[in-house]
Amino acid sequence: MRLVILGGPGAGKGTQANKLCNYFQIPLVSIGDILREAIAAETKLGKKAQPYVAKGELVPDMTMIKFVRDRLLQPDTKNGWLLDGYPRTAFQAEELDFLLDHLQQKLDWAIFLNVPEDVLIQRCKNREYRRTDDEPEIVKRRIDLFNQRTIPLLEYYEYYQRQRLISVHGEQTPEAIFQEVLTQIKTQ
Ligand code: AMP
Repeated sequence: MRLVILGGPGAGKGTQANKLCNYFQIPLVSIGDILREAIAAETKLGKKAQPYVAKGELVPDMTMIKFVRDRLLQPDTKNGWLLDGYPRTAFQAEELDFLLDHLQQKLDWAIFLNVPEDVLIQRCKNREYRRTDDEPEIVKRRIDLFNQRTIPLLEYYEYYQRQRLISVHGEQTPEAIFQEVLTQIKTQ
């Protein structure tokens, strides 16, 4: 199973990503977590990403594309994976398709957690584990970028990728959201 999960900041991507990875027994590739770890460890990737992540900006596509390509060529992702937080731009989505074509693999589903903007803002404020990029002005920037750069991917996965999109209302309980995703995967 090969999945990507899309949603604004605070949409619940991490929670659903963990549940889905457990259920399908696939490795989780959480780009946000990888970047935060790389920044803390001051690796080359971390040093490149730090100024962007701190401001809520997107790390440049070329850096991300190269990283994801290398990550999906590792042996543990050979038979499936879930990408959390990737792709976030049309360019990243197209490059992911090129890579998958090249590997003769295909994406099974793009899962979109649909949560209204005011709820996203509130959730980032209330997050138990506060992140430095959860400050209100930075959350605002992350939501703007999500609307401008990532929302267009919904159309991409719905129409250009032959109905690969699963869209779920993200205001239900985590378990209800998870069950709805599973039902859609099984019935489509
Ligand atoms: P997240 O934990 O998914 O909210 O990601 C945290 C931050 O990491 C984002 O605000 C961006 O700065 C950066 N980031 C995560 N995924 C990507 C991506 N696919 N492309 C560019 N930047 C990203």
